[in-house]
Amino acid sequence: MRTCVPPNATASRREGVYARTPSPGRIGSTGIPCGVPDVYAIPMTTRFRGITVREGMLISGPAGWGEFCPFPEYDDGESVPWLAAALEAAEVGWPEPVRHSVPVNCIVPAVSAVRAHAIVTASGCATAKVKVADAAGSLPADLERVAAVRDALGPGGAVRVDANGRWGVDDAVAAIRALDRAAGGLQYVEQPCATLDELAAVRRRVDVRIAADESIRRAEDPLQVAVAGAADIAVLKCAPLGGVRRALAVAQACGLPCVVSSALQTSVGLAAEIALAGALPQLDLACGLGTVALLTADVVDMPLRPVGGRLEVPRRAPDPTRRAEVAADAERTHWWDARLARVAATA
Ligand SMILES: [Mg+2]
Repeated sequence: MRTCVPPNATASRREGVYARTPSPGRIGSTGIPCGVPDVYAIPMTTRFRGITVREGMLISGPAGWGEFCPFPEYDDGESVPWLAAALEAAEVGWPEPVRHSVPVNCIVPAVSAVRAHAIVTASGCATAKVKVADAAGSLPADLERVAAVRDALGPGGAVRVDANGRWGVDDAVAAIRALDRAAGGLQYVEQPCATLDELAAVRRRVDVRIAADESIRRAEDPLQVAVAGAADIAVLKCAPLGGVRRALAVAQACGLPCVVSSALQTSVGLAAEIALAGALPQLDLACGLGTVALLTADVVDMPLRPVGGRLEVPRRAPDPTRRAEVAADAERTHWWDARLARVAATA
């Protein structure tokens, strides 16, 4: 393990890498020892949730590496659980898994039906998650895309759609019924509307199961989803929930079938999400963890890519061996240093 440094240490250019001078330190006021945080900036292969470059920090500790990568628009308070998740990986490690590998879905962005068919066929996955409601008036294209995905998967596959909260209640009900027909049966629809009340209203009017994603990820109390009768399935991400153990507690308390999904991390942060999927007592649905393909590069030599639609469950995050190749510039490194210090002080 490397010597710890405070996150606000001065950045200096050295051999193409921005390195901070090692000295003993702790993260903010948390009293938690920290390793040298590395800031990365990796372009996405395609624009995804409005992002073209993924940024974050890698933090080392006695248990291995963790990743701190709340999205840029998240405020300091909202970023606190992301730091907790990174420190769990670096300082403590994860609970023992109960399975060796987990099934994953392939991801079909808002692309043409022809492209969607090719993505699914090439993936080797038996489950596909299709982005819908990407823009106003997109339903005809969504229907074509979903039909193409069913054709590629065959009758034995599972088709799920994700609207990222973009529909109103009436639009959601109409779109879900049409998409269900086009898909020859949807496995579930993820976050059709933005609010819990809207999810509950839609759920009462359609036969397709409703999955809550953003409602759990960003809610102050994730358990309200179950209490409100707003969803049949919970989409869990350990980064925004504060770590693998905290996410396991949410899964147990909400009592819903769970799907584990990534937060578009590199393989270091993704390993924690796979560890969560590996430790859930019950896992009947494919997870949204085949996401490193959305990044043009990774911080490790062997990115955690699914093989035959499955990912092996790691015991710890892989060591990042390609940090220099994806290092952020001085300005972004400074921005992340300052963010880490503020978030740690908020925790
Ligand atoms: Mg989602």
